[in-house]
Amino acid sequence: MFVDNVKLLVKAGDGGNGCVAFHREKYVSHGGPDGGDGGKGGNVIVRVDEGETTLLFYKYRHKFIAQNGDDGKNCKFHGKNGEDLIMLVPPGTVIKDANSGLVIHDMSDGEDFMLCKGGNGGWGNTHFATPTRQIPRFAKGGQKGQEKEVIFELKMLADVGLVGLPNVGKSSILSSVSAARPKIANYHFTTLSPNLGVFNTKGTKGFVIADIPGLIEGASDGAGLGHAFLRHVDRCRLLIHVVDISGLEGRDPIEDIKLINEELDKYSIDLSARPQIIAANKSDCLDPELVDVAAFESFVKENGWELMYVSAATGKNLDELMLRAQVVLDELPPMITYDAEYVQEEVVDPTAHDIEIHNVNGVYVVEGEWLDNLMNNVNFSDRESLMYFQRVLKNSGVIDALTAKGCKDGDTVDIYGFEFDFVQ
Ligand code: GDP
Ligand code: MG
Repeated sequence: MFVDNVKLLVKAGDGGNGCVAFHREKYVSHGGPDGGDGGKGGNVIVRVDEGETTLLFYKYRHKFIAQNGDDGKNCKFHGKNGEDLIMLVPPGTVIKDANSGLVIHDMSDGEDFMLCKGGNGGWGNTHFATPTRQIPRFAKGGQKGQEKEVIFELKMLADVGLVGLPNVGKSSILSSVSAARPKIANYHFTTLSPNLGVFNTKGTKGFVIADIPGLIEGASDGAGLGHAFLRHVDRCRLLIHVVDISGLEGRDPIEDIKLINEELDKYSIDLSARPQIIAANKSDCLDPELVDVAAFESFVKENGWELMYVSAATGKNLDELMLRAQVVLDELPPMITYDAEYVQEEVVDPTAHDIEIHNVNGVYVVEGEWLDNLMNNVNFSDRESLMYFQRVLKNSGVIDALTAKGCKDGDTVDIYGFEFDFVQ
């Protein structure tokens, strides 16, 4: 089965919590805080597997979650870091944000990509000891790992795309000029997945050719199978447009070329503007009675395309076609890669103290994402911890903001369910 588009949920590991512990040893009373830090959550890394050609692995499994970091332990033991999760993908995979459709990253550079960053571990209480706070009974919780809903889309890394109606001989050409062995048969839609082949002869750089399954009318509207495969021509720098010139099937090669170009055009104007070489295939069976060769040639000329009569059956002109393609490619700009469009939402910086205050029936409700995090880190049954909390509120301007909103001594303040009387 050929799978080239999958939607996945990926999540990096959460950081482990910091530990609250105090040193204990025989004959040593009141040991200092020795709670260790939590381990870091594992990252989600996407890696190219050169040998892979489809996204089949992701067809039936949609959730990928990296390991969490372990919590810190006493004796200043750092929690174990979570292991990274490696996701292998075929070359040419493009990662998109599932909600917006924006490109997150194009894997065509072959480098590892960190898709989701693991959360940092929380600090153990060792970090919170100060000369005046010698018994910190609180530690920090671990940060959450990043989470994303993404689409992996395979856009093959081919320089040349073989396009054309079904049954015109695309697969035959590919198998003649490369080691690829696509299925060949005399009926429409013989090719159910794009095939890649490499053309290589002495003295040339060589290039990759993709045999795109037959495009039929309406392919760009989603009819037939062709549409799904058009994304594999997206990166092709040159199109070899194969047409049946024999006339044996009773088709008009001019109409056929128009039809395919309309489909390409509907998919993307950019695609129909790519350079094309027209490969008039099955020229071994060309019957001038059935095909108006002169009209065909002037049509191709008017459109500024190059034309070559070839035959996959006899091998006529196939080498010439490939060598010509190589020359054209050498003059074309390098393969298209997709720039990242998606901007990672800023991880809430605890120093950016954005808050909102609403007066709900006389209660001042304070909200802000960083505050929510702060609440997780405070142990409200511990006086030290509460004092720390109060200091943060003061230093970050929450107290001033409340005053500015008209909050007076004795009024009730609610921060994520924690209610207290306001004291300035
Ligand atoms: P595709 O659907 O475009 O991939 O076409 P195929 O490569 O599967 O070929 C379709 C049919 O056309 C097969 O029966 C081939 O043997 C035949 N065919 C392909 N190229 C030629 C050719 O140059 N001459 C002749 N006579 N038949 C060909
Ligand atoms: Mg085929």
